[in-house]
Amino acid sequence: MSRILFNHVYKQYGKDHLPVVKDFDLEIREGEFMVFVGPSGCGKSTTLRMVAGLEDISKGEIYIGDQLINDLPPKDRDIAMVFQNYALYPNMSVYENIAFGLRLRKLPKHEIDLNVKRAARVLEIESFLDRKPKQLSGGQRQRVALGRAIVRQPQVFLLDEPLSNLDAKLRVQMRTEIIKLHKQLGVTTIYVTHDQTEAMTMGSRIVVMKDGIIQQVDTPEQIYNNPANTFVAGFVGSPP
Ligand code: ADP
Ligand code: MG
Repeated sequence: MSRILFNHVYKQYGKDHLPVVKDFDLEIREGEFMVFVGPSGCGKSTTLRMVAGLEDISKGEIYIGDQLINDLPPKDRDIAMVFQNYALYPNMSVYENIAFGLRLRKLPKHEIDLNVKRAARVLEIESFLDRKPKQLSGGQRQRVALGRAIVRQPQVFLLDEPLSNLDAKLRVQMRTEIIKLHKQLGVTTIYVTHDQTEAMTMGSRIVVMKDGIIQQVDTPEQIYNNPANTFVAGFVGSPP
């Protein structure tokens, strides 16, 4: 559980290109569930990928806890990330999919078993640990992907549109489950979505972004009632 601090962060892909993330300055509190929302292309994934170490930071600093992470290799960051197209290993069982990261870290067998079963219990997937991914529904698969992320008990949880591939009904159900999971684990989380409803129902605070620039950071209520500008008002559907 650690805070995440962005200090005037910029990102540009290539020297000749304009920055796609501009002066991103934000503190995410320890244990907070923070949602980044904004239209497609506004820089949400880029920002998340800088935290994960999958993209380098062009300018500015990012801290996790008190540690400057700009030059820290991804594997040394205590972070778990879940994507939209949560690729599970098709030939491995659910159990092996969840255990995989722990095996890489050479944890003792009984410890792996303990951790996998705890994650499975939290996500209520204990009954299909022996199945292969293709024997699961979309929602079950997404739960396994979450299991793989939480099994390491990371300091930080990054979720990039994790529900986009699910149908509407399941999406609503999984929103509730992810919030429940966050309440249980208390891990500092950044949840990225382009869906206003998802943002407004899930976030304890929300960052509204446009063209790589933060438009407003606040609670859903504040953003709805006191939008910072016409873009935010239009985007979250505030009353005129
Ligand atoms: P979002 O996740 O909000 O949809 P992204 O962070 O994916 O936005 O993209 C922000 C901008 O950066 C977009 O204009 C996108 O085209 C551009 N972009 C993203 N990834 C790359 C890349 N690898 N190389 C060049 N441009 C990129
Ligand atoms: Mg994206």
